[in-house]
Amino acid sequence: MDNLLTNKMRGAFARWLGGAPAIMAHAPGRIEVLGNHTDYNEGFVLSAAIDCGTVMAVRPIDGKECRLMALDISEEARFSAAAPDQAQTPSWANYVRGVYANMLARGGRPRAFAAAFLGTIPLGAGLSSSAALEMSAALALARLLEMKIDPLEMAKIGQAAEHDYAGVKCGLLDQISSLFGREGMLVRSDFRTLEVRHEPLGAGAVFLIANTAVKHRLVESAYNERREKCEEAARYFASVLPHPVRALRDVSWDEWREWAPRMDPCAARRAAHIVGENTRVIAGSAMLERGDLEGFGRLMFESHESSRTQFENSCPELDTLVAAARTLPGVYGARLSGGGFGGSVVALVSAAAADAAAARLRAAYEQVYGHPCDTRPVRPSAGAALLG
Ligand code: ADP
Ligand code: MG
Repeated sequence: MDNLLTNKMRGAFARWLGGAPAIMAHAPGRIEVLGNHTDYNEGFVLSAAIDCGTVMAVRPIDGKECRLMALDISEEARFSAAAPDQAQTPSWANYVRGVYANMLARGGRPRAFAAAFLGTIPLGAGLSSSAALEMSAALALARLLEMKIDPLEMAKIGQAAEHDYAGVKCGLLDQISSLFGREGMLVRSDFRTLEVRHEPLGAGAVFLIANTAVKHRLVESAYNERREKCEEAARYFASVLPHPVRALRDVSWDEWREWAPRMDPCAARRAAHIVGENTRVIAGSAMLERGDLEGFGRLMFESHESSRTQFENSCPELDTLVAAARTLPGVYGARLSGGGFGGSVVALVSAAAADAAAARLRAAYEQVYGHPCDTRPVRPSAGAALLG
């Protein structure tokens, strides 16, 4: 976490309210590295907190109203400290309001506060600026309200804010990654048990994010269709396998191979992606423990190929970047990161080759689409924490 951001916050807070904040918290964004659409299938994901994030600064104030200040866009919002109902606008305020409202619902005593935040995560780029906003707010407000909340509960508070206040039906991956990040490590989450472990990346590699800034239409309905097909496939396996199947997590490759020819072909392809991704996360974790980045990178390419052909959640822009990445020296692997249908590609690159690879990715994108994509290197970083 860089001091620049903290100093910038101190200065901006003083200009806004005068004086210093009482509490400051930082929460990072995240990348999904392996394990795509596995969270709602009770499977495994490898992700990482990254070295850009959001800082939240809070001070109790007199009166009945809370004040919120989004410093990056110089917009202020106010709401009742006792009844923080959902607001329509400004929409960014709903993330903080939702976190605070959830804390009151869990027995927190209302307390008027002023909170300001700023950050370095590009918004809407698939790096989870929303979870960073929620988790920085959750840490700071738990301290303000003197509540002891364990990290998994905190993640659920952020998820509830997304569901009920921002209208986004997300899983827990973003919040867990932001909270449990560790420098130089990937976060491996099990979405059945909510158990979290860490796997080492090693110092010689970084991730490159290449953001297409594309958001294809019908993303929401396509996402829901994928969820339904996965559930349909799980029900089929539950009806034919001798052991209990609660989710596609419970299906092995051998079982898939035996039964897929008898299934609805679309459900079979969707299931192949999930079973494959779970297998790749487990294999990839072992590779990281051995320091086998080449092997791990191959799994990332396989993951993208499976998205492209089986889950059909890629798009030409993402495919262009991954195809270009395959030809670049120093690139171990690349795949789409997150929901798909647009958004960002994440590439694993040797640190020495990162700048050159980023330039080549931008050029490859420009050649097809007439303008370059955004690229940025990110490193696995520490999770959210109170500052000072
Ligand atoms: P992502 O989480 O991938 O960045 P989302 O659409 O889930 O994309 O969340 C982005 C939204 O979060 C923004 O539109 C804004 O409402 C809110 N947000 C996050 N960080 C900030 C910030 N620093 N300043 C203002 N709004 C922010
Ligand atoms: Mg988000």
